[in-house]
Amino acid sequence: MKTINHWIGGKPVEGTSGRFSPVYNPATGAQEKQLALAAVGEVDAAVATAKAAFESWGQSSLAKRTAVLFKFRELLDAHRDEVAALISAEHGKVHSDALGEVARGMEIVELACGISTQLKGELSTQVSTRVDVASIRQPLGVVAGITPFNFPAMVPMWMFPLAIACGNTFVLKPSEKDPSASYRLAELLSEAGLPDGVFNIVQGDKVAVDRLLEHPDVAAVSFVGSTPIAKYIQLKAVEHDKRVQALGGAKNHMLVLPDADLDFAADQAINAAYGSAGERCMAVSVVVAVGDTGDELVGKISERAKNLRIGPGDDPASEMGPLITREHRDKVASYVAGAAEQGAEVVVDGTGYTVEGHEDGFFLGVSLLDRVPVTADAYKDEIFGPVLCVVRAETYEDAIKLINGSRWGNGTAIFTRDGGAARRFQMEVQAGMVGVNVPIPVPVGYHSFGGWKDSLFGDLHIYGNDGIAFYTQGKVITTRWPDPADGGINLGFPSNS
Ligand code: NAD
Repeated sequence: MKTINHWIGGKPVEGTSGRFSPVYNPATGAQEKQLALAAVGEVDAAVATAKAAFESWGQSSLAKRTAVLFKFRELLDAHRDEVAALISAEHGKVHSDALGEVARGMEIVELACGISTQLKGELSTQVSTRVDVASIRQPLGVVAGITPFNFPAMVPMWMFPLAIACGNTFVLKPSEKDPSASYRLAELLSEAGLPDGVFNIVQGDKVAVDRLLEHPDVAAVSFVGSTPIAKYIQLKAVEHDKRVQALGGAKNHMLVLPDADLDFAADQAINAAYGSAGERCMAVSVVVAVGDTGDELVGKISERAKNLRIGPGDDPASEMGPLITREHRDKVASYVAGAAEQGAEVVVDGTGYTVEGHEDGFFLGVSLLDRVPVTADAYKDEIFGPVLCVVRAETYEDAIKLINGSRWGNGTAIFTRDGGAARRFQMEVQAGMVGVNVPIPVPVGYHSFGGWKDSLFGDLHIYGNDGIAFYTQGKVITTRWPDPADGGINLGFPSNS
């Protein structure tokens, strides 16, 4: 069985802890690989390597850094199919969806290729007589990224391209469920000419994460994952004096007003709820049908839901693949039965679904639940699977009150033809990313991504300008080149004249 190892100092490094975790192909249910889980010493080795590499990388020219990133972008483009196939084989998502993930990650690489203009700094001349002030931004040192299973290539690329473009060195701890895609990215970075030790991977679980959070030489931690772990990461990182951004889970609401094009809204609800089997932090998991739209909208969604083609990710005919693990699949299925007991109407029941020839795969059909009480677990919890809840609201005011009452505030969307209503929604809704007739409003690379409330702990969102601010620290330099006329003793607080 193939073992996936660490990547430290520009080369594979075998695990020594003796601990392994299984890596499955979710479409077959078979364990195909094993992952070496790091012990504390292996994390320390990766951080020490990154620290040593920072000595020169932190001082390297912008021209050198961007040359590597341009080359990496070229290689990623040439290998996008291969990276997508690795994602699909371990995550289960269909190949076209995996290609989309690579493309969205590449956006951040492209932003990083232009880092020279972003790091220009600011200069004010003659703020006082013969005094100039410059603001510059400098790298932090060694920074770490801890990433979830659902975007094994894109989420690491939300982090490391900007981090290294800003002059930092990086240690990634990918999800233990699908580690091969980011490992391939490490190889491509090396091939692009990235000096050894600038980008490192430690495979692992809580042991590796905790060591990164405690390590005195790690200056900052970017995390993306579930809310309880995000909160834990933030608290522990702060306790150990680190800068932290920790993005958590979500329950994204899509509000449909009575004037919306209901066919368009139904198409978009299907795409956003069931794409990637609902395992997206920006998936629409609740449709809020306002006024008398409910019956017609639910009818249109259920018609479409019944026709979705579910199968292995490497079959071009499949529109939706399996879930990540058997346990997760069974947990998602339990929400459907639970919702029925707690008062919801099960319009489409996807539980017990099997794919011919893949009976042991972690497949689940799609489910549609209508009139879901807000007290039901299916409404309250992040299910992270192909289960769409519909909640009815009499008025826009009831709908916005419901959405703003959620503990999460990642993404949300409104479907309407009324510009005034859309504008009111975008001003009033409590979420970090808002779509107007766009169900999954993931910002492009040069705008930042992040939610509110329990969807993000920390101050700065990820990538875009916030990402650059996160991976750099400000320095302000006040300069005077004295004239023979300057000088003299004055103990007063310096004032400008
Ligand atoms: P997860 O929280 O279980 O794992 C994320 C990372 O944390 C992994 O690398 C994992 O190894 C590590 N981890 C898990 N348990 C830990 C523990 N007890 N101590 C220390 N580290 C631990 O998340 P997941 O299941 O891999 O991913 C799905 C979750 O991620 C969903 O909740 C989803 O909404 C969220 N997510 C959020 C965003 C966002 O941008 N807000 C994006 C993608 C995914």
